[in-house]
Amino acid sequence: MALANFMDRASSAASRVLTNFKVSAFEERLGAQVIGVGFDSAAVKSREGALSLDLIIRLLTRLYPTIALRPLDPKAKDHVPALEHLAKSINPEIEFAKPRRAVTATVVVGSSLPRTKCPTFFIGSDGWQAKLSSRGPVGSGESRNPFGAGAASCFAAANVFRMVFGEQLEQGGLDDLIDLSMLTYAQGIPETSHDLDGVDIGDTHLVGLGAIGNGVVWALSRAAGLKGSLRLVDHEEIDLSNLQRYVLASQCHVGSLKVDLAHAALVDTALKVSTHRAKWDAYVNDRDNWSFERVAVALDNAPDRIAVQGALPKWIVNAWTQELDIGVSRHCFDDGRACLACLYLPHGKIKDEHEKMAEELRMPEAQQEIRNLLQTNASLDAGFIERVAKAFGITSEPLQEFVGHSIRSFHQRAICGGVVMRLTDGAEPVRAVVPMSFQSALAGIMLAADLVKHASGVLNMPTTSTRINLLRPLAAHLHDPMAKDTSGRCICTDQEFLAAYRRKYEVSRQN
Ligand SMILES: [Zn+2]
Repeated sequence: MALANFMDRASSAASRVLTNFKVSAFEERLGAQVIGVGFDSAAVKSREGALSLDLIIRLLTRLYPTIALRPLDPKAKDHVPALEHLAKSINPEIEFAKPRRAVTATVVVGSSLPRTKCPTFFIGSDGWQAKLSSRGPVGSGESRNPFGAGAASCFAAANVFRMVFGEQLEQGGLDDLIDLSMLTYAQGIPETSHDLDGVDIGDTHLVGLGAIGNGVVWALSRAAGLKGSLRLVDHEEIDLSNLQRYVLASQCHVGSLKVDLAHAALVDTALKVSTHRAKWDAYVNDRDNWSFERVAVALDNAPDRIAVQGALPKWIVNAWTQELDIGVSRHCFDDGRACLACLYLPHGKIKDEHEKMAEELRMPEAQQEIRNLLQTNASLDAGFIERVAKAFGITSEPLQEFVGHSIRSFHQRAICGGVVMRLTDGAEPVRAVVPMSFQSALAGIMLAADLVKHASGVLNMPTTSTRINLLRPLAAHLHDPMAKDTSGRCICTDQEFLAAYRRKYEVSRQN
């Protein structure tokens, strides 16, 4: 079995959504799967079909160790080496199943019917429309709009996951038919225009280039015809465990900067891209101009999001992934609707980092010690590692590699990264939320879609937010009215902040 070298992270993600989770059973089930990807020459030749194919390979190869590439006509065969190359760049150990090997689930892009008997998800798109059917081919369009094509791949990967792990999911049935407009998030109503040519995103910031940011950049780099300026802000490097869900990342990117990966992906576009290796706060402090026309927020925590809202951008679009659902929210600050901070104001006492870490390391008595370790960034000694192992009732030997690491690195890799969970075979589940790759990717695609809609003046949503649960069949209604904070604590009810916002963008408002 050729599980990827970042599998512990994938187990962490799955442990949060699957009931009765055991690492061994999870890996065994993955090892028994042969996931087919069928495609014909029509798929390869159509712009949107090629995009769906690209993303479905990027998603499936991050989890399943065996893939069966199935060209459905002689001409499609020519495309196999490129897809194999892409798959291997993500998981070099991946196995490509021989033509006769039975396939357990298949995703088909194109207009051809494969001869398999296993559950099959036919995907395709028509511009903004994302399509999936369990009955027959849906075809792919010719537009330069990537949003339907990308979303369709996320829906397909989610369905494959629900098929493989259905018994461990509540209400995790399969989708029969999806025809979702990524323009309005309504189903079954075809869009007439898909054109993005010449859409100017103005002066846009993309903050955070983690898993959601990767989805955003995947989509923007494939949305032909966009122009304007895109400023990428992120301070981190790519870690091996990030490969579990960063759709743009391959093995060769480990250790490089997240902003550089994104920049490289965008190099063939007409966008003017700049990179800023910094956290948002530091970036804003260093900048002379405090006017932010459009900010796309792909951050993963509440305080950083509140900090972005505090800088009073003219308009914000924000995406999130939670255990079950993902979504996107849009904010003006001065329109009477919820601002971004409204959604992320802390309720009750928020635990400090050292308190949370002491709890997660099962060493509540060591709070003060952990606080010191965090402040001084000191190296952990063998004694400390020994105590953690004892607290979890596991042998300390596999944790010895962390001697000399900082406590943050140890916590990130051993606890969030799933090392301790593997040693306890899932008896000690990971507490941090680690989304599945198809969840983060779709959140990013929605973020990019709403950004482009706003820039082209076609964003017209009845609610602040749109929410999708990919661990269940797609719901009929995705609009999610999020209320403005009413406690009076949010900056959007503060007259000084409102006045500053209006001054900044010269919003005239009649009272
Ligand atoms: Zn607010």
